[in-house]
Amino acid sequence: MPPGSARMVLDGIGVTPGIAIGKAHRVDRDRISRVYYHLLSPLQKREEIERFEAAVSKAEFDLREIRSKIVGDFPEHVYILDAHLHILQDQMLYNETIRIIEEQGINAEWALRQALENAQRLFAKIDDEYIRGRFSDVDYVAAQVLSNLTGRNAQSVAGIKERVIIVAHDLSPADTMQLQVEKTLGFVTDMGGKTSHTAIITRSLDIPAVVGLENVTQAVNSGELMVVDGTVGRVIIDPDEELLNYYHERQFQLERYRKELARSAKLPAETEDGFSIKIEANIEFLEEVVAVIDNGAEGIGLYRTEYLYLNSEYPPDEETLFWNYREVAEIIYPEMVTIRTLDIGADKFSAKMGPCGETNPALGLRAIRLCLQENELFRTQLRAILRVSGITRNVQIMFPMISGVGELRAAKAILTEVMESLAQEGTKFDQSLHVGIMIEVPSAVAVADLLAREVDFFSIGTNDLVQYTLAIDRVNKQVAHLYEPLHPAILRMVKQASDAGRKAGIPVSLCGEMAGEPLYIPILLGFELDSLSMNALAVPRVKQIIRNANLEESKACLDEVLQFSTASQINEYLRELTWRRFREDFELFENKLGTLSSTHGDLS
Ligand code: PEP
Ligand code: MG
Repeated sequence: MPPGSARMVLDGIGVTPGIAIGKAHRVDRDRISRVYYHLLSPLQKREEIERFEAAVSKAEFDLREIRSKIVGDFPEHVYILDAHLHILQDQMLYNETIRIIEEQGINAEWALRQALENAQRLFAKIDDEYIRGRFSDVDYVAAQVLSNLTGRNAQSVAGIKERVIIVAHDLSPADTMQLQVEKTLGFVTDMGGKTSHTAIITRSLDIPAVVGLENVTQAVNSGELMVVDGTVGRVIIDPDEELLNYYHERQFQLERYRKELARSAKLPAETEDGFSIKIEANIEFLEEVVAVIDNGAEGIGLYRTEYLYLNSEYPPDEETLFWNYREVAEIIYPEMVTIRTLDIGADKFSAKMGPCGETNPALGLRAIRLCLQENELFRTQLRAILRVSGITRNVQIMFPMISGVGELRAAKAILTEVMESLAQEGTKFDQSLHVGIMIEVPSAVAVADLLAREVDFFSIGTNDLVQYTLAIDRVNKQVAHLYEPLHPAILRMVKQASDAGRKAGIPVSLCGEMAGEPLYIPILLGFELDSLSMNALAVPRVKQIIRNANLEESKACLDEVLQFSTASQINEYLRELTWRRFREDFELFENKLGTLSSTHGDLS
């Protein structure tokens, strides 16, 4: 436990690792909760709608201004601003506000607030964490319109004069883009989650950040000294000298470790005894590709393509998909990108698409099953991927949730038909493009030898493999403690699938969250996989651990743990092993922080 105490300690979600120490700067945004209510006379309604429309037009003009300034420097952020422009005109806010003004005869500010609350209720019902997190975009857009309605200007982060830690209820991606990196030491917000756009952008700017603190804006005053520990997701307000010294030392050590990691991030992941494994990254969005390269990943092992579909009311058209995939492929070139076909369904579906009302959606019309039923949806995506492959030649296709050979053949038959129709039109595609599958359903493991004969590669998806093997819903908090990637059944399944792939002479990758977990690296190496694909930020540390590891030792270690009966035994074994063998790479990340004493109690 660290020494000393502080006025307050808050725990949230660390989204960008690192420590920032400095003065707080609160950015107060016009909150939608501070609006007044008044009734309109029937004659005033038209005028009020026009006032609302003018506020929306001004917000649109402002967003376009920001957009035009960032093209070139931050092309990946244009997409986010486009999403905001889209939200401005979306029925959920625009039509709904007008409807409320018309039907209830109330002022635009109050009608907007009601429309936003309705939207919030809809978002709250969504299981998918990413989509739920998109509410912050709607909230931001509403706040822009509101400040135009009230004439009170939201504070800008652009004019900050000294080096500070920004404290905000939520910062929009547009705000974040205007941050002056050199003036921003750190960044904390009430709102947000790991996958919020703001989190994504802070990661790309590499500013220590903690989000989801719920009430940090109420807890801290501008000018107060604070510490942001983005590595463990903790915020310390007004620490005493002893605690401050502790954090200065921790900051120094983390920085030194990161610098060392950054220097070696581009080195190959090769063990002491010469075993090489490719380290790739998983992405959900185009804007993550730059971080993939910066962190030394050697390609994109999994592009989860569903987010383009989930973000819009209707499935994106072929051209939208084509340009998105092309940009990803061109940025990552000459490395490869593995584009996974649509894995919508289960916990990932939108109102207009995908199965609704299923009793067991995770066991329902999901992923490849849905694509085989919704043929046009599938063909459109395949055409877009194939067209890109003809231009960039660094693309491979992966089918999710394959449960057996029959399903694989059905998917491949459609792929062949799409290829034939492109050939007939004279549209180029990569004729030798590799086609692989995710191994994430237990039946696929059981018939991995049969599947391996008919594909070019395997990628083991442990997130779902754990869910389906252990019968643990991966999004159900009640059973989260039973979600055990180190369960002996999972390790045996990974072994069976990787052995089958190796025997058939095809490359085998592992792309579930397990791949980026440093603690698991010693045994993952023992499977002799061809690649691991993970969150880009995890890449430098995983590579470093691999360089300090030894294949023969890992194989022996895997053999040993395969004899163990429980996940906790394996976990304990790995903790002891990593502490003994890789102490330097684990010491700083140990959660030694415990509960810090805080003179005003812990708000979290
Ligand atoms: C997996 O299931 O392990 C996987 C990588 O896919 P997703 O998390 O997208 O289901
Ligand atoms: Mg999966």
